[in-house]
Amino acid sequence: MGKIYLIDVTNRDGVQTAKLGLSKLEKTLINIYLNEMGVFQSEFGFPTTHHESLYLQANLELARMGVLHPIRLEGWIRAVAQDVETAFRLVPDIKHLNLSISTSDQMLYGKFLGKKTREDILKMMVEAVDAAKSYGAESIGVNAEDASRTELNFLIKFGLAAKEHGADRLRYCDTLGYDNPFTIYETVKKLAENTGMPIELHCHGDLGMAVANSIAGARATIDGGQDAYINTTINGIGERAGNADLVAVILAATKSKGFADKYQFGNNIDLSKAWKIAKFASYAFKVPIPINQPGVGANAFAHASGIHADGILKDATTYELYSDTELGRGEPEQVETGREICTGQYSGISGFRHVMRNIMGETEGEMALPLHDDKEAQEILELVRYANVEAQKPLVKDELLFIAKYPAIAKKLLTLKPLE
Ligand SMILES: [Zn+2]
Repeated sequence: MGKIYLIDVTNRDGVQTAKLGLSKLEKTLINIYLNEMGVFQSEFGFPTTHHESLYLQANLELARMGVLHPIRLEGWIRAVAQDVETAFRLVPDIKHLNLSISTSDQMLYGKFLGKKTREDILKMMVEAVDAAKSYGAESIGVNAEDASRTELNFLIKFGLAAKEHGADRLRYCDTLGYDNPFTIYETVKKLAENTGMPIELHCHGDLGMAVANSIAGARATIDGGQDAYINTTINGIGERAGNADLVAVILAATKSKGFADKYQFGNNIDLSKAWKIAKFASYAFKVPIPINQPGVGANAFAHASGIHADGILKDATTYELYSDTELGRGEPEQVETGREICTGQYSGISGFRHVMRNIMGETEGEMALPLHDDKEAQEILELVRYANVEAQKPLVKDELLFIAKYPAIAKKLLTLKPLE
């Protein structure tokens, strides 16, 4: 019986959202939180993009150090042999790739203006898979962009060609959020049965069905005899109306009527990290969490009306499917209302030491930070200043601790190489 795995694409689809972005340190923290949560794989960035190179290399180094383990770090590139070559030149240690190409006639005519045929698409894709294999890629997913508007027979042909050349998974991209749970179920089941490939469900929310479609698609894949991989983003941040929300997908898969009796995650997911990861992504993207967001919205556990409040006070399960503590909520938050010393791009050593002492007081025993030594403290402060230049907002506790704990990695994350 197939299982469900999560591939989070916040650091790829999320950051390519119009008007939004993350610093390289924020992207790294997200990888760390996803790993803690039990997410199988993070699509951690763009290996052909020059300003990502050092970030990607630094995160692969964290993986080798065991900090980003067992999560798998995978890069997203176009299914073009030349791009594969560039990816391995800029990020030689990359091991996992997703190769993306449009498959629908709409894209062939609308985007490629009829200059490419279906045969050209197949040829480009298999050449890219061959190239990735020749450079030693350990796992390869092929992405059919606009799969939901692609003729099924061609999609099957695409999947079979990819499989024949050694690809491991097929990403079914509902790029425009066009599917509904009924259509995606029907298509994806046939796709799984006829290709014999594990399927990734990549669903967008243009019609408000990203999570429902992901769940229906996962069920279809497993019913079709394969493992299912659901693509998520934190808080559903993604292009236009966004992607399937990570926390909502976990809740839907584990708490909805009867689903988990048969369809389960292939590894342990720690839902208690939900609150922390949602809050951090909201802060990092500078996008508030909607008040009615499943699980992590401010009202997700708020009750006012007489009948509801009465029911909750007697037995919480009368009006709640899951509890706040399951998602890591329930602790009061401290907000400074008086004097405050922050770190910034122009901070000095005494303010910085004050901030770090406060943090370390909270996390006693976590580590012996090298703050007693003036030289080392200055070096860490310099990195914190650089991090502030990129983030343009005060760093959170975990970012400061990360810099103090892994200064060499932080230095890499914060370095932009001069253009050649
Ligand atoms: Zn997308």
